[in-house]
Amino acid sequence: MRETGRFAPSPSGQLHLGNLFCFLLAWLSARAQGGEMVLRIEDLDPDRTRTAYARGAEDDLRFLGLDWDRGGVDGGTEYSQGRRTAYYQTLLERLDQMGLTYPCFCSRAQLHAASAPHASDGEPIYPGTCRDLAPDQVRALSRTRSPAVRLRVDDDPIAFTDGVYGPFRQRLTQVCGDFLLRRSDGVFAYQLAVVADDAAMGVTQVVRGRDLLSSTPRQLYLYRLLGFAPPRFYHTPLLLAPDGRRLSKRDGDVCLDALRARGLTGPDVVGRLAFLAGLQETPRPVTPRELLPAFSWDRVPRQDICLPPEWL
Ligand code: GLU
Repeated sequence: MRETGRFAPSPSGQLHLGNLFCFLLAWLSARAQGGEMVLRIEDLDPDRTRTAYARGAEDDLRFLGLDWDRGGVDGGTEYSQGRRTAYYQTLLERLDQMGLTYPCFCSRAQLHAASAPHASDGEPIYPGTCRDLAPDQVRALSRTRSPAVRLRVDDDPIAFTDGVYGPFRQRLTQVCGDFLLRRSDGVFAYQLAVVADDAAMGVTQVVRGRDLLSSTPRQLYLYRLLGFAPPRFYHTPLLLAPDGRRLSKRDGDVCLDALRARGLTGPDVVGRLAFLAGLQETPRPVTPRELLPAFSWDRVPRQDICLPPEWL
């Protein structure tokens, strides 16, 4: 089977160098094996995403010389998550028929209450408040608010081997508990949509920032329940601002526009990203294609990487 990688930008702002670092590695990983690339627009949340940002992401990819074979804004409705809700709904119904979902009426404030159990990263673990509501309780609560939908999780550990970080193991009950599949406003959860789409699009390798490493067991759980074959996962170290902060789409200075305005070309930026990824000894200009022969995941570091201040 042909390798298939993907770019999965959320068009909620301009891409930053960290997104592009990850996209360069995703492209190299798939192309080095003669694989194809898919561009999927992750515009699940209509309030936070804009088509203009999706087009901006396409421009940034093109500027760097990162091409794709399927998808994109004009590549068909099946490549935009905002237009795939009917499909996500069918998967939700399948899980429902297995008796694995339930409506949840908890408010944000209840979920974030200090008394709720929290995982080690400070995220609240759903305590199961609505897990066993009786049908008449559900009917009564439904009269005043529309519920979210959660998935029942079990206590078995989920283990997999990440292509960069190695063996990883997690019990969902200790990290998130019964997690959301659909929010109370009807927007489907990232965890469900990403599994639905990577499976439907034939993705065989997922390359993304290590901030999503701890979401992967939730996704593997869904792969198993839905009977889909999971891809391989490669999580990449994060690029940090020179002062160690996480990059954000709100920081204009770490977006491509700022570098372009200073006269940097696509190969200039690719050269710097490749240097940070351990793929060349110096930040000299290079095209993605020129990096292919020497590409190896073994060269990519695990530690997060601070951007040199003189590059910004
Ligand atoms: N859309 C997500 C983001 O831009 C990436 C999700 C994924 O790669 O699984 O952060």
